[in-house]
Amino acid sequence: MLVPKEEISSKFLQQNTKVWLGPKKHFVQYLVKGGNFLNCVCLVEQNDWINEDWSEKGDISELKHIFSDWHPEIQDILESTKPDSLYKWGLHDRTPMKKWGKGRISLLGDAAHPMLPFVAQGAAMAIEDGIVLASSLSYFDSVKLGLNDYENKRKYRTASAQRTATRNATIFHLSGFFAIFRNVVMKFFLKKIMDSFYKYDAISK
Ligand SMILES: Cc1cc2nc3c(=O)[nH]c(=O)nc-3n(C[C@H](O)[C@H](O)[C@H](O)COP(=O)(O)OP(=O)(O)OC[C@H]3O[C@@H](n4cnc5c(N)ncnc54)[C@H](O)[C@@H]3O)c2cc1C
Repeated sequence: MLVPKEEISSKFLQQNTKVWLGPKKHFVQYLVKGGNFLNCVCLVEQNDWINEDWSEKGDISELKHIFSDWHPEIQDILESTKPDSLYKWGLHDRTPMKKWGKGRISLLGDAAHPMLPFVAQGAAMAIEDGIVLASSLSYFDSVKLGLNDYENKRKYRTASAQRTATRNATIFHLSGFFAIFRNVVMKFFLKKIMDSFYKYDAISK
């Protein structure tokens, strides 16, 4: 959901991205559109999901119920949300593919390496793919060799992002002692883990 910032009265609201973690669910918030809107992504585990539609409307009362005992800031955001501004969809995971191209045909982005949005790298990986694809195609005279080079350069990195996202799905939703342990580990290692993504230089590949 997108919430206009001026409608949120929360005294807690900051520029930073915030991720609230809890048993079997989490809530992500970050400012977009020059800081004028708060984008919120609310994830809840459930065993059944049938609809694969990307444009199913969400229900604010369902969301309020799910997060009813969470922090006052979240209550504030949910109170400020326009009921018709929510969308809802299922997330489906895929294991990394051993190979995604063949001959003069290849894939890029989610088509090649879909991942859960728990490391916020899906679009970033697609952009990096584009840069490496362009450089591989310009280096080789043969399209086939260029595509093969592109895939070899991207396979390990994108698979690592997919695995990190899948692992985070479990880590984010821990409870009890495991959640306390996670919080301590995250405090010291989150930056290191994320640096491995942010420090990659696609242009030099
Ligand atoms: C909740 C959520 C939060 C996310 N947050 C982040 C984030 O913070 N950072 C990040 O990097 N990534 C994030 N992602 C992931 C990111 O959105 C995707 O990885 C990215 O959009 C993939 O881009 P793509 O171009 O490969 O595929 P898509 O964005 O899916 O584009 C494919 C396009 O092809 C079109 N299409 C499909 N079939 C056909 C057809 N037959 N003919 C013509 N067109 C067709 C589709 O309509 C679509 O427009 C998030 C994803 C989700 C679900």
